[in-house]
Amino acid sequence: MNILVTGGAGFIGSAVIRYLIEHTDHEVVNIDALTYAGNLESLAAVEGSERYIFEQADIGDASRMAAIVERYQPDVMMHLAAESHVDRSIDGPAAFIQTNIVGTYTLLEAARHYWKGLQTSAPEKASAFRFHHISTDEVYGDLEGPEDLFTEETPYAPSSPYSASKASSDHLVRAWHRTYGLPILVTNCSNNYGPYHFPEKLIPLMILNALAGKPLPVYGNGQQVRDWLYVEDHARALVKVATEGMVGETYNIGGHNEKANLEVVETLCDLLQELVPAEHRYRDLITFVQDRPGHDLRYAIDASKIERELGWRPEETFETGLRKTVQWYLDNRAWWQRVQDGSYQGERLGSL
Ligand code: NAD
Repeated sequence: MNILVTGGAGFIGSAVIRYLIEHTDHEVVNIDALTYAGNLESLAAVEGSERYIFEQADIGDASRMAAIVERYQPDVMMHLAAESHVDRSIDGPAAFIQTNIVGTYTLLEAARHYWKGLQTSAPEKASAFRFHHISTDEVYGDLEGPEDLFTEETPYAPSSPYSASKASSDHLVRAWHRTYGLPILVTNCSNNYGPYHFPEKLIPLMILNALAGKPLPVYGNGQQVRDWLYVEDHARALVKVATEGMVGETYNIGGHNEKANLEVVETLCDLLQELVPAEHRYRDLITFVQDRPGHDLRYAIDASKIERELGWRPEETFETGLRKTVQWYLDNRAWWQRVQDGSYQGERLGSL
């Protein structure tokens, strides 16, 4: 199959592409605008593959999107391109509206016209075509009771500009299915962590600050609960849904790892203490800072549908995944140092 992936230079998209090239025979076209979050160095492992092509393009560019789908004739589109950082959405929501909502709309229209054309030129290919939209559990808002879980039927109640823009994009994707019959699938996943995670996110930020002896900033009292999933488990789930999921369905994806943010940071400190002994205690670097406005208290996901219907299960526990992640950051200093000093952005010179 020919799989078109948007946002493939990002954290999760690059894990999906590495998985597709290393574990399947599919061909991959990566469409990415290379914003600050896009890093082609995360794709070094697949760079030489004949089954991998990169196109630098913005999903909001309608004529480029139309030309790209016509040129590559994908069997499956996996849509991950997005503005993804909640704090950035609070400081500057415009890019989130543009990419997550308008960009998704633009891509849906390119997919719809391409798919309609296939119905006359290649009906078998049209009936097998699938558009998979990748989303977040943050669209559900936060949970009240300690035992509650988000299911695929939980009503949407997004809190941040980020989650509201992702909720909008989910609604657009489902509307293109109801109204135009576009064969879509939607997945909503909990917080990911793992290798190649941009250092502004909680887990890599804490690892790199701790290694540098800098404060470890924890929002509010650190009691916000998130479910954590190792990124390679997510990538495997996504490929399963894209290729085997039932058209029109939504699948929640999660790791059964509900942890309070403070517990995550303390566990990281203890792992680092073991792996990189230092004179100071890493836990002493923890500093509580003013909470994020509108901060959701608890997210937890019921992933039983994908487990039951598609036989997917996470392979990593939080403990094994976190240990792998810390070890990866210790072994791949060049990757994150080039992000920190901005030199990773040199990749985009000349490729526009
Ligand atoms: P990321 O920020 O690491 O990567 C996003 C990628 O999209 C980057 O490579 C960026 O260059 C690209 N991009 C941004 N705007 C673009 C545009 N206009 N046109 C083309 N490319 C553009 O994000 P991520 O963490 O890999 O998340 C990927 C997807 O998964 C997002 O849709 C996100 O909402 C969703 N998601 C993320 C998580 C998580 O924990 N990170 C959890 C659930 C769902």
